[in-house]
Amino acid sequence: MFEVVIGLEVHAQLNTKTKIFCSCATSFGEKPNINVCPTCLALPGALPTLNEEAVKKAISFGKAVNATINKKSVFNRKNYFYPDLPKGYQISQFDIPIVENGEIFININGKNKRIGITRAHLEEDAGKNIHESSFSKIDLNRAGTPLLEIVSEPELRSSDEAVAYLKKLHSIIRFLDISDANMQEGSFRCDANVSIRPKGDTKLYTRVEIKNLNSFRFIQKAIEYEIKRQSIAWEDGVYEKEVVQETRLFDTTNLITKSMRNKEVAAEYRYFPDPDLLPVVLTDEFLNVKIPELPDEKKIRYINEFGIKESDAEILISSLELSRFFEELLSYKLNPKLCVTWLNTELMGLLRGDCTIENSPVNAKKLGELIAKIEEGVISAKAAKEVLSFIFENPKMQIDESIEKLGLKQVSDDGVIEKVIDQILNANEDKVQEYKNGKDKLFGFFVGQVMKEGKGAFNPAKVNEILKSKLG
Ligand code: ADP
Ligand code: ZN
Ligand code: MG
Repeated sequence: MFEVVIGLEVHAQLNTKTKIFCSCATSFGEKPNINVCPTCLALPGALPTLNEEAVKKAISFGKAVNATINKKSVFNRKNYFYPDLPKGYQISQFDIPIVENGEIFININGKNKRIGITRAHLEEDAGKNIHESSFSKIDLNRAGTPLLEIVSEPELRSSDEAVAYLKKLHSIIRFLDISDANMQEGSFRCDANVSIRPKGDTKLYTRVEIKNLNSFRFIQKAIEYEIKRQSIAWEDGVYEKEVVQETRLFDTTNLITKSMRNKEVAAEYRYFPDPDLLPVVLTDEFLNVKIPELPDEKKIRYINEFGIKESDAEILISSLELSRFFEELLSYKLNPKLCVTWLNTELMGLLRGDCTIENSPVNAKKLGELIAKIEEGVISAKAAKEVLSFIFENPKMQIDESIEKLGLKQVSDDGVIEKVIDQILNANEDKVQEYKNGKDKLFGFFVGQVMKEGKGAFNPAKVNEILKSKLG
């Protein structure tokens, strides 16, 4: 039997206004080569100046994952040639990164597991090569965009754990607001390092690195494919030959990984301290930066303050938008448990594909109004589900007019309900007698009959109340 060993490297693009070593804008989707200057074009003599905001964001991250923040860190040159890297080297951090030894907790089958963060360092992004039929073009808008590279310990043991880790990391980054972390736009990219070893063995075997995975689903599939490939090679006795230290790409059409190139080793990059940049020395003012409430803290607070289930709290903190939505619902002074059900089960049950909580046709204000109608007894929970589907499909409709249009207004008028109750009791005199002789269970029968007659529109609390008083 094999044990799976996975370590992840994530590149998060920091959402500073300007690049890390010059004052060019970092805006996405501009015309090619608009956001450039002598520094990020690598013209001779142009010098880098470190962006303070990028440093602050890296420190926030370090604090959030309970890491050591190095008072002194160093920028190095990582030398390699690539057309989208005009300097011929990337400015990165190597032996003294700004953040080291952190941790992230993931929830796997209801249990918490700690995953170590080896390091998080600042570096610059490269430009982009655009390949067209017979020629290639280079866009340097992205060159010099600040990245935080976050490296995990090889402590993940399955593709599920890897995805849980990435989702937690993603959520932390969004809560800190240090990156848009938009996977489609490439501002949150992951490389997965995967190896296997016989169960019980503690040494690390040859790892394969799968580059630039840009969706949680592809990450899961790529890791699963790679585990299978390596296990089969082992069982067939061709492990040494087939599993070599290399970089592989994930083919998203066929869901397989393919060899791209041999993996470089650190020595090949000829790292050395960048003589154009002084070491980064942090003053206390930097180290004392305040960070917002984090997902795990929120989770505990939700459980303690509102008595909601851990599994529900997990969902609410899985994204910044969801927790904001939930907190807005609470601000309308609604019952927290009702809010959880109507958000986590009912509304999220309707969201699909591109329709996410961010662009949900039903916003928190509207869902809050609907929940209030249930609390006030204007409509039943069952009717509210109909209203929700209706306003989901017809976003322009307001709650009141939807209830009216669907004819779902709950009857709370005592007179109307009483009349029906009298009818039912008169038609069932024998059962009324049996009830009075002690057959308590019949109460439910009467409620059922009355509700049926009221076509589900009677307020159940009222029905119960009037029936009780009539039956004595
Ligand atoms: P590089 O940039 O060369 O890929 P890093 O140190 O940045 O090196 O990242 C290495 C990543 O690979 C880390 O996440 C680490 O946990 C992981 N890793 C190292 N050895 C193994 C292994 N044998 N199996 C799986 N993952 C590994
Ligand atoms: Zn520039
Ligand atoms: Mg790597």
